[in-house]
Amino acid sequence: MIIVMEHNSTREQLDRVVKYIENRGLKAQINNGTVLDVVAVLGDKTQLNAESIAAMDGVYEVKKIQEPYKLVSRAAHPEDTVISFPNGVKVGGLERPVLMVGPCSVEKDFEGLLKVATAAKEMGCQFLRGGAFKPRTSPYDFQGLEEKGLQYLAQAREKTGLLVVTEVMDTMDIALLCKYADVLQVGARNMQNFKLLKALGRIKKPIMIKRGPAATIKEFLLAAEYVVSNGNPNVILCERGVKGFDNQFTRNVLDISAVPIIRKYSHLPIIVDPSHATGKRFLIEPMGKAALISGAHGLMFEVHHDPDNALCDGAQSLNIEQFKETAKAFNKLIGRIDYDNKNNK
Ligand code: PEP
Ligand code: MN
Repeated sequence: MIIVMEHNSTREQLDRVVKYIENRGLKAQINNGTVLDVVAVLGDKTQLNAESIAAMDGVYEVKKIQEPYKLVSRAAHPEDTVISFPNGVKVGGLERPVLMVGPCSVEKDFEGLLKVATAAKEMGCQFLRGGAFKPRTSPYDFQGLEEKGLQYLAQAREKTGLLVVTEVMDTMDIALLCKYADVLQVGARNMQNFKLLKALGRIKKPIMIKRGPAATIKEFLLAAEYVVSNGNPNVILCERGVKGFDNQFTRNVLDISAVPIIRKYSHLPIIVDPSHATGKRFLIEPMGKAALISGAHGLMFEVHHDPDNALCDGAQSLNIEQFKETAKAFNKLIGRIDYDNKNNK
């Protein structure tokens, strides 16, 4: 932490700041500049209140050097986190980007879900996504099949070998979800549900946290810090767009720069969801490619066997034929083009 004094601050004001620091067992290193005095604080700053120091007479500003997201920061942990699944799939670091696809919500037509899962496997995807507990803006919209939906996902996994990603909305459902899912997704609306994040820190399953629609990158990383600091290091981040001022053409604004920024400042895997970011199926491929080129560790997007009749998010879902073309384009970019190898990881 660096404390910058005002140019006209007095010796007494500087002494008071130094005393405040030393009284808390820390060391104050004073640098008397020609214009400004600067105090560098050395030691464990957890007991120090930056706002109180900033409010002291003679203080111009307080700059924190270390970020508050300690555990997820690259400074604290230079090596990439790579999450390994029992079937050999790996997410993060220098591993090849993964593809997570499936309908927005699991619907009662199991055969439809299976068609999507079969196509996903055929195209070398690693994960089947689908919500069984759905966060919907309107209470009158389809809320998900709950356990029945989880069973469908598990049956599709049984038949295809794909890993299952599905959303957790409530601490009460964690045990049930753990029975069926390989990755528990925290939806954008729940990114700052701290009770949920803490509870997910106490389990071992990988957690995927989606960026809140109005969350800064710092808040996004702090959400991950909640999970990691409570004991679960297996966190994947997912950029899914933030609210902008122009929603005429896209649902959200995809913050592609979040990808290299997170790769620079954190060791956690970061994937991108071009479906929720844009709301438009024709934007999945270009935005997905942009994400891959920017260094995303994977993509998650929506695929439905009959998007026109989907109960949720049909407009941002590809049908199976479109999906196959799009997956080919992504695989070409990723370098995963061996369609005949059924053991593609
Ligand atoms: C989802 O992925 O199913 C979803 C609801 O997305 P988000 O939380 O990003 O809105
Ligand atoms: Mn959706």
